Amino acid sequence: MFERTFVYFVWVLVDIDLANELKNKMLFERKGYAMFMCFDYENLPQFCKNCNSVGHHEIKCRRYKSNEEEKNEEEKRKSEWES
Ligand SMILES: [Zn+2]
Repeated sequence: MFERTFVYFVWVLVDIDLANELKNKMLFERKGYAMFMCFDYENLPQFCKNCNSVGHHEIKCRRYKSNEEEKNEEEKRKSEWES
Protein backbone atom coordinates (compact mmCIF):
# COMPACT_ATOMS: atom_id res chain seq x y z
CA MET A 1 0.00 0.00 0.00
CA PHE A 2 1.15 3.53 -0.62
CA GLU A 3 0.53 6.47 1.62
CA ARG A 4 -1.48 9.30 0.08
CA THR A 5 -0.74 12.88 0.81
CA PHE A 6 -3.42 15.51 0.49
CA VAL A 7 -2.86 19.19 0.00
CA TYR A 8 -5.47 21.66 1.13
CA PHE A 9 -5.84 25.27 0.15
CA VAL A 10 -7.80 27.86 1.98
CA TRP A 11 -8.34 31.50 1.07
CA VAL A 12 -8.90 33.74 4.00
CA LEU A 13 -9.30 37.45 4.39
CA VAL A 14 -7.21 38.81 7.23
CA ASP A 15 -6.06 42.13 8.60
CA ILE A 16 -2.31 42.33 8.86
CA ASP A 17 0.11 44.97 10.01
CA LEU A 18 2.42 45.56 7.07
CA ALA A 19 4.97 47.18 9.36
CA ASN A 20 5.75 43.72 10.75
CA GLU A 21 7.66 41.11 8.80
CA LEU A 22 5.30 38.78 6.94
CA LYS A 23 5.72 35.10 7.75
CA ASN A 24 5.92 32.57 4.95
CA LYS A 25 5.02 29.64 7.16
CA MET A 26 3.94 28.87 10.69
CA LEU A 27 3.98 25.71 12.80
CA PHE A 28 0.57 24.58 14.02
CA GLU A 29 0.56 22.13 16.88
CA ARG A 30 -2.29 19.95 18.02
CA LYS A 31 -2.42 17.06 20.39
CA GLY A 32 -0.48 14.28 18.75
CA TYR A 33 0.75 16.10 15.66
CA ALA A 34 2.20 19.28 14.31
CA MET A 35 2.41 20.66 10.80
CA PHE A 36 3.69 23.67 8.96
CA MET A 37 1.20 25.85 7.13
CA CYS A 38 2.68 27.86 4.27
CA PHE A 39 1.29 31.28 3.39
CA ASP A 40 1.01 33.12 0.11
CA TYR A 41 -0.11 36.72 0.16
CA GLU A 42 -2.16 38.04 -2.73
CA ASN A 43 -2.77 41.66 -3.62
CA LEU A 44 -0.36 43.09 -1.10
CA PRO A 45 -0.16 46.86 -1.46
CA GLN A 46 3.15 48.63 -1.74
CA PHE A 47 4.34 49.51 1.75
CA CYS A 48 7.11 51.86 2.78
CA LYS A 49 8.88 50.80 5.96
CA ASN A 50 10.65 54.14 6.08
CA CYS A 51 7.52 56.25 6.68
CA ASN A 52 5.06 53.39 7.40
CA SER A 53 2.78 54.41 4.54
CA VAL A 54 0.89 52.44 1.92
CA GLY A 55 1.28 53.37 -1.74
CA HIS A 56 5.02 53.34 -2.38
CA HIS A 57 8.21 51.45 -1.51
CA GLU A 58 11.19 52.82 0.41
CA ILE A 59 13.09 53.38 -2.80
CA LYS A 60 10.51 56.00 -3.90
CA CYS A 61 9.95 57.49 -0.46
CA ARG A 62 10.03 61.29 -0.46
CA ARG A 63 10.86 61.23 3.24
CA TYR A 64 13.84 58.95 2.75
CA LYS A 65 17.17 60.23 3.95
CA SER A 66 20.30 58.33 3.25
CA ASN A 67 22.72 57.59 6.08
CA GLU A 68 25.07 60.18 4.58
CA GLU A 69 22.39 62.92 4.67
CA GLU A 70 21.50 62.07 8.30
CA LYS A 71 25.17 62.12 9.26
CA ASN A 72 25.65 65.54 7.61
CA GLU A 73 22.61 66.97 9.40
CA GLU A 74 23.81 65.61 12.73
CA GLU A 75 27.27 67.12 12.23
CA LYS A 76 25.67 70.45 11.26
CA ARG A 77 23.58 70.42 14.45
CA LYS A 78 26.68 69.60 16.53
CA SER A 79 28.68 72.45 14.98
CA GLU A 80 25.81 74.90 15.59
CA TRP A 81 25.67 73.77 19.22
CA GLU A 82 29.40 74.15 19.72
CA SER A 83 29.63 77.64 18.22
ZN1 LIG B 1 7.80 56.37 2.49
